[in-house]
Amino acid sequence: MAISGVWTPSEVDVVGREEVLDFKEVGKLQECMQCGTCSASCPVAPFADFTPRQIVNMVNLGLLDVAMKSKMVFLCTTCYSCTARCPRNIPVTDVMIGLRNMAFTRKVMPSKNLAYYKDFSDMILRRGRLWEPELVLKFALKTNPMFLLAQKDAIINLFFRGKIPILPPKSGSDLKAIKNMVGKG
Ligand code: SF4
Ligand code: SF4
Repeated sequence: MAISGVWTPSEVDVVGREEVLDFKEVGKLQECMQCGTCSASCPVAPFADFTPRQIVNMVNLGLLDVAMKSKMVFLCTTCYSCTARCPRNIPVTDVMIGLRNMAFTRKVMPSKNLAYYKDFSDMILRRGRLWEPELVLKFALKTNPMFLLAQKDAIINLFFRGKIPILPPKSGSDLKAIKNMVGKG
């Protein structure tokens, strides 16, 4: 999608950029030369509305509202390919994470994503480990139960390849440390 249009000064949030990244890193963003290496390295960019290059540009320009509501920010798998390959050492992955956090604190995170992150963090605090079947089941029941039906072939395939653990993993011995880390200990 092209970034086009005219933005009013009220839509440009330059100060808010420091909620996305710290001061030093915000300054670093200006070294982006818009080469697009990050976009070409990103496995999810073809399925998103904007590319990582465009998201970096938006943050640079202070178009945070558009950026934090973009599909790209929530599709990002934090694989770090963009960051590893950027010739200017721009922390592209941190930009994505910062925008996600901002969407949460500014209460504009899509309800589907909010449900997923809540179940994910609840499970980590409860088990100290991730148990994918429970997470996927809860998410599907809350958002779109038909998702399980649509994905049945993949689920069956994964099950017979031993990729879906039937029993939950044992709780991690570091559960207390995890709780302390997020201030829930
Ligand atoms: S790879 Fe780095 S320099 Fe190139 S567009 Fe992406 S962030 Fe900018
Ligand atoms: S970290 Fe996110 S934005 Fe960067 S390449 Fe991976 S999925 Fe794309």
